[in-house]
Amino acid sequence: MRAVVVNQAVEGDVEVVERDIRELEAGEALVEVEYCGVCHTDLHVAAGDYGEKPGRVLGHEGIGKVSKVADDVKSLKVGDRVSIAWLFESCGSCEYCNTGRETLCRTVLNAGYTADGGMATHCIVTADYAVKVPDGLDPAQASSITCAGVTTYKGVKVSNVRPGQWIAVYGAGGLGNLGVQYAKKVFGAHVIAIDINDDKLEFAKESGADLVINPQKEDAAKVIQEKVGGAHAAIVTAVSAAAFNSAVDAVRAGGRVVAIGLPPESMDLSIPRLVLDGIEVVGSLVGTRQDLAEAFQFGAEGLVVPKVQLRNLDEAPAIFQEMREGKITGRMVIDMKCACGHEH
Ligand code: NAD
Ligand code: ZN
Ligand code: ZN
Repeated sequence: MRAVVVNQAVEGDVEVVERDIRELEAGEALVEVEYCGVCHTDLHVAAGDYGEKPGRVLGHEGIGKVSKVADDVKSLKVGDRVSIAWLFESCGSCEYCNTGRETLCRTVLNAGYTADGGMATHCIVTADYAVKVPDGLDPAQASSITCAGVTTYKGVKVSNVRPGQWIAVYGAGGLGNLGVQYAKKVFGAHVIAIDINDDKLEFAKESGADLVINPQKEDAAKVIQEKVGGAHAAIVTAVSAAAFNSAVDAVRAGGRVVAIGLPPESMDLSIPRLVLDGIEVVGSLVGTRQDLAEAFQFGAEGLVVPKVQLRNLDEAPAIFQEMREGKITGRMVIDMKCACGHEH
């Protein structure tokens, strides 16, 4: 098989290598990958932001068809179209796994980080954790929902925003754009998108944002307080501590800030602001298998439409560079079947 792996220096670059496909073990399935999106988390892993993983096969926005299952597998059959998500496997029996919080399992495996992921022509998955893609959902679009979609869908759920309330979505990149769509079309919220890049704000507007703000031109928190009296909630997908700080200032009393982006740094938290205004700040990590099934279904129903651009496997190093430079609008998705070598 061919795979995109973290390079040996773990300095943020990736390389395309040839690997053997091993035999299946109990509980596993082999997936012939059709598409895999490139998430900013892949960039963090390639740069060693959360620990060094040289040689790791990246990718947790994988979609493909099952071509083989181990004898004991009951949840999947050959031909099923499934996801390869960040939640690659959890123990299934701990406090978190038993209370609908399986992404927090202490012995979890994550695709493209602690397990070889989906940015390859083939991937061996733990069958019970591969979520089926509903009929009617385009597989390339499904790849974006596998991380960006489910993460923001879950983030909006965690924000507790109600129909008609205001939510601020910080960062309108791969995640944020889908956050705008889920918040607007599924949760019925009014949406403010905040990004330092005007192209992404334009796209957020097209996707349903009621208000867009570029924090390099205006103080986002101030504008949000003045125009709508403060947001009821915020989800922060920006890779910048400044955005997290702004979100705390942008919500109204009793507001909730959901932290999703993963810049490897700390945010400021004014204790009087937290206490006197009853602000809540909470982290949210991808979503459970059930969250993913729900997020897929809204895609299949056409409420949420990921913007994807297809590229081929050999372009992976270039895609990582473009993401580092903030040049990508929507999601870059690697088409594993295309080997033509042309950009498209
Ligand atoms: P992306 O690069 O596509 O988007 C990030 C966006 O943030 C860009 O549009 C950029 O212009 C914008 N931005 C940068 N600085 C900003 C600022 N100060 N204010 C407002 N916007 C700003 O990345 P992505 O794939 O959307 O991922 C975003 C982050 O979410 C990454 O850190 C990634 O690791 C993390 N992530 C977390 C989870 C989770 O489960 N919590 C899941 C997936 C990704
Ligand atoms: Zn991701
Ligand atoms: Zn567990």
